[in-house]
Amino acid sequence: MKSTDIRSSFLEYFHSKGHDVVSSSPLVPGNDPTLLFTNAGMVQFKDVFLGRESRPYRRATTSQRCVRAGGKHNDLENVGYTARHHTFFEMLGNFSFGDYFKRDAIHYAWEYLTVILKMPPERLWVTVYQTDDEAYDIWTREVGIPLHRITRIGDKPGGGSDNFWQMGDTGPCGPCTEIFYDHGPQVWGGPPGSPEEDGDRYIEIWNLVFMQYDRDQDGRLNPLPRPSVDTGMGLERLAAVMQGVHSNYDIDLFQHLLAAVGRLAGTTDTRSPSFRVIADHIRSCCFMIADGVMPANDGRGYVLRRIIRRAARHGHKLGLSEPFFHRLVTPLVEVMGDAYPELIKTQDQVAQVLLLEEQRFQETLEHGLKHLEEGLGRIIDKTIPGGLVFKLYDTYGFPVDLTGDIAREKGLALDMAGFEHEMERQRDRARAASTFKVADVGAMAVGVADSEFVGNEVMAVDAQVVRLAA
Ligand code: ATP
Ligand code: MG
Ligand code: MG
Ligand code: MG
Repeated sequence: MKSTDIRSSFLEYFHSKGHDVVSSSPLVPGNDPTLLFTNAGMVQFKDVFLGRESRPYRRATTSQRCVRAGGKHNDLENVGYTARHHTFFEMLGNFSFGDYFKRDAIHYAWEYLTVILKMPPERLWVTVYQTDDEAYDIWTREVGIPLHRITRIGDKPGGGSDNFWQMGDTGPCGPCTEIFYDHGPQVWGGPPGSPEEDGDRYIEIWNLVFMQYDRDQDGRLNPLPRPSVDTGMGLERLAAVMQGVHSNYDIDLFQHLLAAVGRLAGTTDTRSPSFRVIADHIRSCCFMIADGVMPANDGRGYVLRRIIRRAARHGHKLGLSEPFFHRLVTPLVEVMGDAYPELIKTQDQVAQVLLLEEQRFQETLEHGLKHLEEGLGRIIDKTIPGGLVFKLYDTYGFPVDLTGDIAREKGLALDMAGFEHEMERQRDRARAASTFKVADVGAMAVGVADSEFVGNEVMAVDAQVVRLAA
């Protein structure tokens, strides 16, 4: 079953259950300036869930384009290394706005997977929130999930839980139930809730969120008069199951992109992570640009710039020294243009933006890598010094996560404290300069603001890099 057919089968199924088929909203959320990118199907319905906006329907279904590369959900560091994470992916979802609740949501999900798609039920594992007896009973008594394949998941020691969802510190929230697919013992990993759950054997495919409370300022959970449902299932993960492959990168859609990268690199062996990183990144970059994001030094534009530069660096690793990334727009349009006509419309423009950004980075990339190589010869404690990370960032335009990506390949850590110290010194210099030369203040002020934002953004990314390297 092709990815495209899975997408339509999902929408058709929920349409047959009285859901309006609603188009994907753009990646730049129209209703939430605090959110970098649309990262879930519910984003375009936020105000409907909050009761601030009404729609002519109480059930909806979508295939939503999503980006998780920055902000609260950041999967950038996982890309190329897990079988299941992308920076860009499509989330299939069904939504109830005060209409049906747990019973129907669970029965629909089960019927879609096991009857429509004919997945073997014994491969499906389920989690519920620890106190959600209602969901537990529906799964065990009505659906008939055997007790050994259902787990209650509690709160995490540091706070939060995979199975309790909330929009913010206050507002709608509630328990989730998640469905996992067991890819079999040839893959490392343990069932959800076990110590080995981080492995890739049991892959989470579908998350059903039950919005049933309104959390107030004092943290009290007040029952919502009309609870709602929000679900999300990754199309690529579902396609992997349906196409009998383990990794998302082995599905039809990615095979086409990987083959295209291979052709540019002059090989048919596309097993190294760099191929997967590039195939992933062309999707997020094209969709971001098509939705109006341009490479920049802050905000969304900086996320885009970072992703393009990471792709360029991986290309360099594969021996692609000329701009190549923009040449992947056509293969992408071939596999996704039908579902996303905006991609066809904007393709020339998108390719142009990518080419310019590649050209811009090409020279400094080459020099920066040389500079890094020299620096690496001198390191002693398996850590790239902050001064070097800063120099690469400031002089050669290496976003810190790009340097982190290289460090990870080499089994090195980054000295983030040292880097922050250099950033701070640069800010001090800028402040000092601005008190002397009035004429330069404008330019300086922009510089300071940028590095401050970039600094924070970078720290968030790097907390992960450091963790992964450790
Ligand atoms: P995981 O634990 O695997 O990182 P998640 O719990 O963060 O996934 P949710 O926020 O519950 O994911 O999103 C709903 C669904 O969207 C997931 O069940 C999965 O199928 C899909 N999904 C989430 N993140 C990604 C990603 N980075 N790439 C591809 N699909 C994803
Ligand atoms: Mg995740
Ligand atoms: Mg999860
Ligand atoms: Mg989840």
